[in-house]
Amino acid sequence: MGQRPNSPAARDVAYHLHPYTNARKHEAEGPLIIESGDGVTVTDDSGKRYIEGLAGLWCTSLGFGNERLIRAAEQQMRRLAYYHSFAHKVPPPVIELSEKLIAMAPGNMGKVFYANSGSEANDTAIKLVWYYNNALGRPGKKKIISRQRAYHGVTIASASLTGLPYNHADFDLPIEGIRHTSCPHYWRGAQDGESEEDFATRMAADLEQLILDEGPETVAAFIGEPVMGAGGVITPPRTYWRKVQEVLKKYDVLLIADEVICGFGRTGDMFGCETYGIEPDMVTVAKALSSAYLPISAVMMRDEVYQAIADNTKKIGTLGHGFTYSGHPVSAAVALETLKIYDEMDIAARASELAPRLQNGLRRYADHPLVGEVRGIGMIAAVEPVANKATRAPFDPAGKVGAQLDQRCRAHGVILRNLGDTLAVCPPLVIEEEQVDTIVEVIGKALDETWEWVR
Ligand code: PLP
Repeated sequence: MGQRPNSPAARDVAYHLHPYTNARKHEAEGPLIIESGDGVTVTDDSGKRYIEGLAGLWCTSLGFGNERLIRAAEQQMRRLAYYHSFAHKVPPPVIELSEKLIAMAPGNMGKVFYANSGSEANDTAIKLVWYYNNALGRPGKKKIISRQRAYHGVTIASASLTGLPYNHADFDLPIEGIRHTSCPHYWRGAQDGESEEDFATRMAADLEQLILDEGPETVAAFIGEPVMGAGGVITPPRTYWRKVQEVLKKYDVLLIADEVICGFGRTGDMFGCETYGIEPDMVTVAKALSSAYLPISAVMMRDEVYQAIADNTKKIGTLGHGFTYSGHPVSAAVALETLKIYDEMDIAARASELAPRLQNGLRRYADHPLVGEVRGIGMIAAVEPVANKATRAPFDPAGKVGAQLDQRCRAHGVILRNLGDTLAVCPPLVIEEEQVDTIVEVIGKALDETWEWVR
């Protein structure tokens, strides 16, 4: 399908290298141009409206066109459009946001550092862990353990943490000192007759063995998403997080919780850490922190971690880390207003209230001939097709069926995202019951049509 000469689509193809896009396919097919958004819907340049079933990229929890967020940005821009937090300076919204975040954070956080994206937050977390262990006189304790199929971002260090092959392939990643332990996906990974609890025990044993193989004195931290998002919406098996934390404690390994998707109500609690009884040493947040209206992310850390870091800044003379936009006042003002709205609407309770509609709705398709597993918690879910229901064999080539499903959903007015063949759902949390039903119905239609297409 060629694009009209000089059309916006043709100009996009001519000049723009898209993230997470097959460039040659894009040249042939052109972009989907999204022109506007309102509530949970977006509209393309032909006037077709879609429910945004993935909240953009798992991020705009308050949907589009929220007047309060627009006003918060405008007012702050007029007052102080930019300032920074280097060398003891700070704009007021950043003070307020820090107090608020520390008060609401999971576990027992003492300080917050700001960045612009989830990737930067996770990069910062790694750097602070290294800095911390140097401060404690343990220069050999530096390795970071992540998991296969984890998603922690795309900068050099965070992409190394990410456990997906295409984030490493031909980028010469991962960097040194990053290890990946097993992915806790029960449905895919369990052995015959293995219970969920036994599987969790085995996953924790794998982690322990990796730490022992590497040498506990070389392992600094473990990073994990409470629910794995972009790796396929993988909810942890029962008892997994308790067992993992026991291992980490035993070997004095810090736990970094990546709440970039789970944070702010997605799992039905304010944080995924609450849902799974995780007591982290550091927490990273982004995305829904500002409902994605402006880029902002944060790394929070326990006071004990901060104290060692603080001592080191005194020794060196400064914390040699910080972004031009660490604590951007406009982003901070928008984040603060976002958190106020979350409080007022009791966002986690709202997600819990909506969750059965989404989760039970989708589980109706568990018997569909195309479906291997339906999974999720709160307002995040996934449907994974398989080529053979009995053996759970995936389709070959991977991703073709997922792309078909995604396309069918879009044709029926719902934008979702296929992660390989797995279809992910993560709508804005301001969605209404009927709109959840629409997403579920459309996925049903797309499954039927895709089943006809593969047969
Ligand atoms: N961590 C998680 C759990 C994510 O899902 C993402 C993005 O999807 C990131 C980190 C990276 O965030 P960003 O794309 O803002 O760099």
